[in-house]
Amino acid sequence: MGMAEKKIAEQLFESVKKTHATGEHVASEESIFKLFEKNDSVARLFCRGCGSIYELDKKNAERLAVLAGENFTSEENNSDYFESEGCEACDGDDKKVYLRQIVKH
Ligand SMILES: [Zn+2]
Repeated sequence: MGMAEKKIAEQLFESVKKTHATGEHVASEESIFKLFEKNDSVARLFCRGCGSIYELDKKNAERLAVLAGENFTSEENNSDYFESEGCEACDGDDKKVYLRQIVKH
């Protein structure tokens, strides 16, 4: 790729830049504990950066647990969810992952 092409590519990616992660989003109990839409989902990931919420299958939940430095099994952690500083939709740090618990009211 020549210099000119490289410049064009950079500008293109710049134009589809991700949402800026504000880090101010808070997960609501309803959004975390509503029924899963997919049959193989075992947990949810909430992004504090942009407020996006994702369903995780067992494999992805276990991957995030590794990042969070926690153990996760869908049986023992059925009232837990993952929280991250960023995700694929925003520019927050998606390597910062935590396992959280929502206190049910
Ligand atoms: Zn995000």
